[in-house]
Order: sequence, then C-alpha cells, then structure tokens
Amino acid sequence: MLFENLDIIDPIQRALKEQGYTKATPIQEKSIPTLLNKKDFVGCAQTGTGKTAAFAIPVLQNLYNEKRVKKGPKPIRALILAPTRELAIQIGESFTAYGKYTDLKNIVIFGGVSQRPQTNALKAGVDILVATPGRMLDLFNQKYIDLRNVEYFVLDEADRMLDMGMIHDVKRIIAQLPKVRQNMLFSATMPPAILKLVNSIVKNPEKVEV
Ligand code: AMP
Repeated sequence: MLFENLDIIDPIQRALKEQGYTKATPIQEKSIPTLLNKKDFVGCAQTGTGKTAAFAIPVLQNLYNEKRVKKGPKPIRALILAPTRELAIQIGESFTAYGKYTDLKNIVIFGGVSQRPQTNALKAGVDILVATPGRMLDLFNQKYIDLRNVEYFVLDEADRMLDMGMIHDVKRIIAQLPKVRQNMLFSATMPPAILKLVNSIVKNPEKVEV
C-alpha cells in the first residue's frame, strides 16, 4: 500500500518521501493503522522487513498529535529497548529521519562508553529514549531517567534479548513503567519464553507475522 493512502500526517509523509519510501512494507501496512488506533501490537518479523519504521512512524505521529502543553524539560514519552548498541543507534537514526519535520527529539543510550554525554542529554529532556537494557537500568537506578510519563513502549528483537540474558533487566524496567501505555513487541522467532513475555506485557494485541 502507498504511504499516501495510510493516514500519516504531512510532516512525516514529507520525511518518508525524502527517504525515498513510497510503498509501505507488509508489516508497516498492518502495524501503522493498528498503532495509530492505540492498540497493542506483536510483530513476528526479521530485520530487513521494515520493522523499525513499522513502530517509529506511528509512535512519532501519536506523540506529534498529542502535543505537550507544559513548559520545562521534555519528559520521556516513548521508550524503545533494543538488544545491541548497533541496533539502538539505527533505531535512533530512523526516528531522527522520519521525525525530521516534527520537533520530537530522541536520544540513544548504551553501555561500554562514558555515561556523561548520555546523562547530559537526558537532563536536557527528550521525547523518545532508545536504549539497551543494562545501561538504561543503570542510569535509572542513578535517578537520571524518569519513566513516569512513558506512554509508548517498544521491545525490539525480544528473542535476541532472551539469548543475550537481558530478560531480567527488561522485566525490571517494565515494572517501572506506568500501567496505562501502548505496547509494541517485535521478535524474529516466538519461542515459549517470548510468548510468556508477550502475554505478560501486551493486552489483546494485533498479531502479525511476516
Ligand atoms: P528494518 O527492517 O527496520 O531494519 O529496515 C530495513 C531497511 O529497509 C532499512 O534500511 C530501511 O530504511 C528500509 N525501509 C523500511 N521501510 C521501507 C519502505 N517502506 N520503503 C523503502 N525502504 C524501507
């Protein structure tokens, strides 16, 4: 389906055109209407299917449509967890590209580097936080991250997180999120441990396999 036939706002349409995107991929065709309707979503999808845009476009649009009226530093309203630094960086770049004509700001945090630039960026305020679970929990425990305003939660490559032993950290983070929120979970495979996690996180989701 063409992006122009999906209900996507002009600032994002313009950015997608600049990226050279005209047609939505199968997962995007399914996820975008569902997520714009604020329903939970589970996608069984590999890298290369366009899964990043499948959640980034609707998250940006929902945030854009619910403009904040309060002054002061921006609170984190969307949290995206990814298993690796490389994937987190790619996700951040996608939010920056698709959100180019919005004033929505993202930052990416991951371990293995100095935390100072990350804590400075957090203090300045962001709408969208993309993070790997270990560093995120570390900064949360140091009180640099306030999760009380999170409305959108994405768990990307959940099966890889399980393989990498990150699930306990992920569960600790989820326990800190507001109960009312929209959940999106993506995984290339759905082993029993992931299905259990899915059932504990998402509510009546639309499930899509590509
Ligand atoms: P992903 O599966 O999210 O890692 O995306 C794989 C690649 O496809 C990335 O380089 C995206 O920029 C690109 N991509 C995602 N959606 C589209 C689309 N609708 N049209 C063209 N390229 C796309």
